[in-house]
Amino acid sequence: MTAEIISVGTELLLGQIVDTNAVYLSQQLAKLGIDLYRRMTVGDNRRRIASCVREALSRADLVLITGGLGPTPDDVTAAGIADAFGVPLVRHPEAEAWLTELLQRRGIPPSQTLLKQAELPEGSDWLPNPVGTAPGIWMERDRKVVVAMPGVPAEMEAMFEREVVPRLQNRLSGEVLRWRTLRFAGIGESALTDRLGELMQSLNPTLGTLVKPGEVWLRIAAKAKSEAEANEMLDAVEAKVRELAGDWLIAVGEEPIEVLVGEKLRALGLTIATAESITGGLVCSTLINVPGSSDYVRGGIVAYTDAVKMHLLGVPWEVLQKEGAVSEECARWMASQVRVRLKAHIGVATTGYAGPTGGEPDKPVGTVFIAVSTPTETRVERFQLRGTRQQIRERAAYLALVQVLRILQRGIPPCRMR
Ligand code: ATP
Ligand code: MG
Repeated sequence: MTAEIISVGTELLLGQIVDTNAVYLSQQLAKLGIDLYRRMTVGDNRRRIASCVREALSRADLVLITGGLGPTPDDVTAAGIADAFGVPLVRHPEAEAWLTELLQRRGIPPSQTLLKQAELPEGSDWLPNPVGTAPGIWMERDRKVVVAMPGVPAEMEAMFEREVVPRLQNRLSGEVLRWRTLRFAGIGESALTDRLGELMQSLNPTLGTLVKPGEVWLRIAAKAKSEAEANEMLDAVEAKVRELAGDWLIAVGEEPIEVLVGEKLRALGLTIATAESITGGLVCSTLINVPGSSDYVRGGIVAYTDAVKMHLLGVPWEVLQKEGAVSEECARWMASQVRVRLKAHIGVATTGYAGPTGGEPDKPVGTVFIAVSTPTETRVERFQLRGTRQQIRERAAYLALVQVLRILQRGIPPCRMR
């Protein structure tokens, strides 16, 4: 089955809202194993909607439309679909009864304007709206289907899930697409694909990489007759990938980094503290995004000036004098000291130049040192980041969490807190 999506709304064309409906539907179609070939955006214009629908129908088996189903005069999607099929709009008695009852329950008088929403293309079926008042449209002709759903994302998603997916599944051959994301750190994209070699050329499952700050994501997608079969195919490829590049694998899945770090800390029964200069508290703040993080986040010190690095963290004066605040030595002291002073198992520290001005000849803007300290060792890595001040700071915070995750993953010998 092939599909196209039509997003209706002049506000989309004006750039006033972002088309999140199309993103949602694209993801859902992929999960269902339906090939999406094209997406169109059209304004609230009956003639142009009709022409988009005709065009999409000439190519695809399934046309999904969102937006313009409401009661206002600019909501003309139903009329556009009717025109595309060359049929009139007619009051759908069942949809009208459903709508009248819904309005009654909500204490809203069933005005002619509101009841206009029950006017659907002749010969179409209606779809109840689990959340709002605009019914959806299901129109079948010559084994092709046109589905229209409301524009409000929550209404669209509820209708798609509850009404559209079951109907589609009935028509599908039963192919599903499942994917899995393997995440790597400490290895570049090309080095990773080199290691994976021929595996990258595989057609089913297919493999693709995606570069994220501090990480490379490898997406494996399998098409199969059933979910179980797709999962087996994914398991087999994952095993091969682990064999070839397992040393750099930091996670499976698309969870935010702070969730992964949190899960690992919790599983190991460890706590963490942060000492932040360039990131100004972002690392700690990100960790705290996760509910229940008080179980493992001890706290953090934002040590922005030399004075605070010295007095609150105990970075020696000589280190700041000789090496400077942006240095491997300083990062090392910050991480190990915050670990000890805040009585945590892990200390993480960031120091660097965010720019746009400043830096040193051998440490230009974007130079960042990240240190992670455990009771047995303190590791510091130097990074050269690009971007605006804000981007550099955000990337540094992200990298700090990736570094923590890598160290946790390598395993920390059983230790007593000190
Ligand atoms: P209603 O019954 O609320 O009038 P509708 O089906 O007529 O719904 P629209 O009037 O086109 O839908 O859009 C309603 C609201 O839904 C828009 O103001 C916008 O906030 C949101 N919306 C519409 N289309 C999209 C889209 N493609 N992506 C994200 N949001 C959208
Ligand atoms: Mg509307």
